[in-house]
Amino acid sequence: MTANGHRPTANGKVFLVGAGPGDPNLLTVRAAELIASADVVATDALVAPEIIARIPKSAEIIFVGKRSGAHSVPQDQTNRLLIEKARQGKRVVRLKGGDPFVFGRGGEEAEELAAASIDFEIVPGISSAIAGPAYAGIPVTHRSHATSVTLVTGHESDETTGVDWQALARLSGTIVFLMGVGNLPMIVRKLRENGAPASRPIALISKATTTQQRTVTGTLENIEQRAADIATPALIVVGGVVQLHDAINWFESKPLFGKRVVVTRAREQASELKRLLEEAGAEVVQFPTIEIVPPTSFDSLDGVIAAIGDYQWLIFTSSNGVDFFFDRLRHHGKDARCLAGVMVAAVGESTANDLRLRGIDPDLVPAKFQSTALLPLLDENQKGIRTAVVRAAQGRDELIDELRRRGGAVDLAIAYETKRVTAAAADLHDIDIVTFTSGSTVDNFFEVVPDKKIVDRAMLASIGPTTSEAIRRHGREPHVEAENATVAALVAAILDACRVKS
Ligand code: SAH
Repeated sequence: MTANGHRPTANGKVFLVGAGPGDPNLLTVRAAELIASADVVATDALVAPEIIARIPKSAEIIFVGKRSGAHSVPQDQTNRLLIEKARQGKRVVRLKGGDPFVFGRGGEEAEELAAASIDFEIVPGISSAIAGPAYAGIPVTHRSHATSVTLVTGHESDETTGVDWQALARLSGTIVFLMGVGNLPMIVRKLRENGAPASRPIALISKATTTQQRTVTGTLENIEQRAADIATPALIVVGGVVQLHDAINWFESKPLFGKRVVVTRAREQASELKRLLEEAGAEVVQFPTIEIVPPTSFDSLDGVIAAIGDYQWLIFTSSNGVDFFFDRLRHHGKDARCLAGVMVAAVGESTANDLRLRGIDPDLVPAKFQSTALLPLLDENQKGIRTAVVRAAQGRDELIDELRRRGGAVDLAIAYETKRVTAAAADLHDIDIVTFTSGSTVDNFFEVVPDKKIVDRAMLASIGPTTSEAIRRHGREPHVEAENATVAALVAAILDACRVKS
């Protein structure tokens, strides 16, 4: 027997899991763990794509919930499916929006599982009923405004059954209606008819906790008119706490809220930039224009590694260069100790940080993210000095040419290649900002983007001088340039520019 009193059937198990209200970061740790180890995931179609993307490739995905434009799978069919998969010995995760027991029919599914003696667990999720108001700056309880919160279905097909409107209208606490937008006129009327004052505050929160969230506030008197064009899903919140929205409205007032920002960086490298932009409220559109791949040949890099002790200087021009160099060192059974006698230069703060993480504090980091910015810092006379430059196959030769002109011996170590990828341009609409993190992202973006008009009204944000030059070569002027070559500085520059504008 198990904790919940049911005999496990061939070790299969069903987890009724809340997937949270919309923001994929509001998934619980337990839910993430279970998704990662699932054999079968039966999910509502409205669960965020970022959460669906966590499902391992080995798992079977079944969409059972409502899908716009498509039929939903009837509840009894869903229940049968869960039971059948569990009887096959599978770990089944049933993903539901918000919390499974808050108008999620989780109770019915659990009853069925219990009746069929299937082992199951309930994993609560963050309900939109609580998180939606929180993201709208509306605390559902507050010592000065509400001592209770009541969750009510707004989806009463027969107005006369179920909901006790008299009791609701008398409540001075907060009422949250789910599934009620279509019935807003009826809800307002019922509350008024039962004695609620016309001045009672009310809010509608649409697509709560997502980048498309919208809050409309008013009173029972004027809300229908104000919220006429509200999109679903939406919540209706009634009560004095609604008045706190103006003061606490933290989410929709983020500096980049409502802005669509394109990240052109290779997907493998995009995570920090994406996170910083999202934290500032932006909707990030990933449009990777390049992909980082190993070089066609490791010969030049291997040559430099084999003779590493003969070099006076080793120059890294990118984090990718650092990563591939150290991977290759390991491949040859070597590590950072072989750099003991070599001076190391890093172009760009991220490149320098990447080296520091590997225990190498670079001797030289120019202020600008530009390899030629190293030149004034290096000896005018390079005779007898041997330098290796670690970089992509596609790169600029000015640094190497100039060092050679000064009499130095310079070897190029090709550590990786940037390959152009053609991402789907379908998402490139209503773009507010495009971020560029290297010259090649600029070139590839302008080559791939089907209609240049897309960027006419967009802010073009550059990570440094070389990237800005590339933008100018395409006949555009970068609107912002990062102060040092880090994604943090890039986002800071964007935020500064938005502050000035607004
Ligand atoms: N179990 C879910 C609720 C399912 S009922 C939960 O705990 O959140 C579906 C209703 O939830 C919708 O009609 C809407 O009223 C509300 N809802 C769900 N997600 C929402 C969101 N992101 N924004 C606003 N309302 C949402």
